Order: sequence, then structure tokens, then C-alpha cells
Amino acid sequence: MGKGFPEVGAEAFAAGHPLRRCRGFIFDVDGVLCRGDEAIPGSPEAIDRLRRGGKKVAFISNNSTKSQEEYVAKFIKLGIPVTADDLVLSTYATARHVSKEKPGARVYMIGAPGLRKELQLAGLQLVDDPLEAEYVVTGSPFDGTGRIREDNVERITGALRALYHRNARFIATNPDRVFPAEEGVIPGTGAMIGCLSYMIDRSPDAVIGKPSEHIVRIALDRLELQPEDCVIVGDMDTDMLAGEKLGMTRVFVRSGAMTEEKLQSLGITPDFAFDAVIDMLTAEGD
Ligand SMILES: [Mg+2]
Repeated sequence: MGKGFPEVGAEAFAAGHPLRRCRGFIFDVDGVLCRGDEAIPGSPEAIDRLRRGGKKVAFISNNSTKSQEEYVAKFIKLGIPVTADDLVLSTYATARHVSKEKPGARVYMIGAPGLRKELQLAGLQLVDDPLEAEYVVTGSPFDGTGRIREDNVERITGALRALYHRNARFIATNPDRVFPAEEGVIPGTGAMIGCLSYMIDRSPDAVIGKPSEHIVRIALDRLELQPEDCVIVGDMDTDMLAGEKLGMTRVFVRSGAMTEEKLQSLGITPDFAFDAVIDMLTAEGD
């Protein structure tokens, strides 16, 4: 993480701009920095300018299938140099949350290899026998076409047994109900929250991804900054809500999936709104 001094004259914002006083910037990824694998024009330059101006930057995503290492490659393709330490995916954040609650806990998981990897890296013990589990952690068991992954076919029943017979704690990586795929929508992690909650008549003990503040808190810990010193930049209501819960400055960008009208109709008013992240840096101060 960049802890160096800013270069002389490298201030990222125009004089008098209210965002100039903020020390950390936490960015959502899809709809903010990129659309799929395509960078949104100006976003690599915006990140570069912030860093050169001495600002701390982190990136958060509700992605529940990739490990942090796997996600680095996506950023390199976008032209934004990062290390795994700059990222906070819901896989990593979930592993951190569980290991903080109970270091070395026995976990029965539903989800992709990327989630498995992060749980292991956090020192948690993955179990295949549901009756040994202290925690059930669920991400999405579906592949990119909406089929249940081969290694997950028995795991819905397994998770049910861990929750039902062992009263395991119930943690979900993110609340996204559905996920847009090329052929049409596919079920998201929310499908597992729905089916397990309904079967055991109990909600998850924690859902880590946005709009919950858990994932943002973990990013703030990484930056070693307080929420009031930081900005959250996002394209969805969920980003703005997560920032609001923590008292962060909220920047909405119109480059993603949600219109500003839709955001307002939900009763959410961000502190600032721009067409794209680069416009945040070229805006005039007072
Ligand atoms: Mg987004």
C-alpha cells in the first residue's frame, strides 16, 4: 500500500474542491472503473492521479467466486496496476469476518474455488462433514451459465444439515439475488440465502457484501483510515447505502447500471454525482 509522500505539485483535486480534504477513496468496480472487461474511459488515469496526489485507494466488489489473486489479473487488463492488498472482494471479506469472530473455525462452504482459497488463506478449517461445522459460509454455487458446479451438488443439503442439526452460524458472502449473464439472468448468492433461510426459518447471522457495511469496514481497516476521512465511489444504491451507514462521503457515478433518477426515487441523495470517475478530478473547486 502506498504510504509515501505525495510528489510536490501532485495534488489530485482543484484548489477549493471539497473532496480534496478526503484521504482515502474506496471504489466499487463494475460500472465505476469498468463495464465487464472494458475500462470506462479515464478511470485508469483517475486512479493514477489520486495515488500521485498521495491519496489511499482501495477497491471493493461483491464478487463471491474469485480470490483476490485471481482478481488482480482483471485490473491489470484494465490498465490499473494493483496488488491483492488493494482489493477487498466479498470472498476475502467473508473469510476475514469469520476468522475474526472465531480464528481457525470449522467451516462448511457452498461456492466457488476462489471462496475456498480465501477461507483457507484466513486459516479457517474447511470440513466436508456438515455435522462437524461451526459455520456455514455460502457464496454462489452456480457457474457462469447458471448450472450448479460439480463440486457443489451435495452442498445445499450439507449446509441445511449443518444449520439444522448443529445450529452452525450462517454467513453469506453477498446479498445479490440474481446476476446478469450473456444468455439472461442467473441465480446469485441470494438464491442460497433464500433457500437456506426458508428451510431453517432463520436469517443469516451476517451478509458481508454491500449494502452491508462489513465489506467497507474491512477496506477501511486496510487503508488504516476512519470512515469520515474517506469517500465511497459507486454506481448503485447499495454502494451509497453502505457508505451512508458508516458516515462516509458518497460519490455517485452515472457510468453504471443505475440512473440518478432511480437513485433519487429510492430516497438516496449522494454528496456528489459525476458522469464518470475522471470527472470527479476535473471538477472545479469553489
Ligand atoms: Mg457497481
